[in-house]
Amino acid sequence: MTGKPFLIDAHADILYRMETEHLQFGDAGSPLHLSYPKILQAGIDLQFFALYVDPPYTPQEHLAKLICYIDTFRTQVCREDRMLPVLTYADIERNRRAGKKSALLSIEGGEFLTDDLRPLRVLYSLGVRAMGLTWNHKNALAYGVGEPEDGGLTPFGREVVREMNRLGMLIDVSHLAPRGVQDVLEITQAPIIASHSNAKAVYAHRRNLDDEQIKAIIRNGGVIGVTFVPYFIGKEPVGIADLLRHIDHILALGGEDHVGLGSDFDGIPRTMVDLRSGADYPKLLAALDKEYGPAIAAKLCGENFLRVLKAVLKQEDQNERAV
Ligand SMILES: [Zn+2]
Repeated sequence: MTGKPFLIDAHADILYRMETEHLQFGDAGSPLHLSYPKILQAGIDLQFFALYVDPPYTPQEHLAKLICYIDTFRTQVCREDRMLPVLTYADIERNRRAGKKSALLSIEGGEFLTDDLRPLRVLYSLGVRAMGLTWNHKNALAYGVGEPEDGGLTPFGREVVREMNRLGMLIDVSHLAPRGVQDVLEITQAPIIASHSNAKAVYAHRRNLDDEQIKAIIRNGGVIGVTFVPYFIGKEPVGIADLLRHIDHILALGGEDHVGLGSDFDGIPRTMVDLRSGADYPKLLAALDKEYGPAIAAKLCGENFLRVLKAVLKQEDQNERAV
């Protein structure tokens, strides 16, 4: 291998698991898939920290919980500059030069929003730079994949997309029902992401993307983070070789510049047989390198997501004016 590629994991529920199981991010013996010691072992350079809350809750309860998670992020993840938050693209480059790990806050589901964009702007000002419009259920923005019906984006959901474009936030369509994905792609002025989804043609699961969706994300210039959720990959047990079939499929559709990684670690009840925590990431990197060669492996590991981050996040001097 020609040097370690820049590694980005675009989805993990570390904060959720810390909260619900009372775990410490820095604990060497912690069962977290992505504790700080395991992030170091993984060689991850930029980790997305999803803010996920178990339903049911009211929008107000959701918002209150998101704010508490952000405090945990600041006090534990960013404690003593272990990891440094990403607010602009320049932060990623600066952290990289300083040999520091980057951490990006994302919200998994816009349930805290009702009919007012102000809470979104406040969360942006608190450092959130990505958001999935829905989780599996319906909310004021759109329908999730778990709903029996699919009404696409609501008028307010369309406003949210435009506001996220204006602020410089990544729009995440994982969990969003198909008409909503189509609506987002019609409205957005920027590349989007599907932070943790696989290919439906390889394994038919409602959370995976069909070929038309994959091709539409490619045309948009976006990125799909293939995910390590065993039951989105195939009939269990599954391993790295099975995950590669999803990557092969997206590559065959012209996706060389549109695939990344989004583990969903700490959000899954069980794991792949040979990718059980961040500590196993080097095995995946070796497999990608062997299967696709170092240039494509580097794109899949992080370069593709870096391109989208560069296109979407505000530049340093614009950031203060964004809100
Ligand atoms: Zn998820």
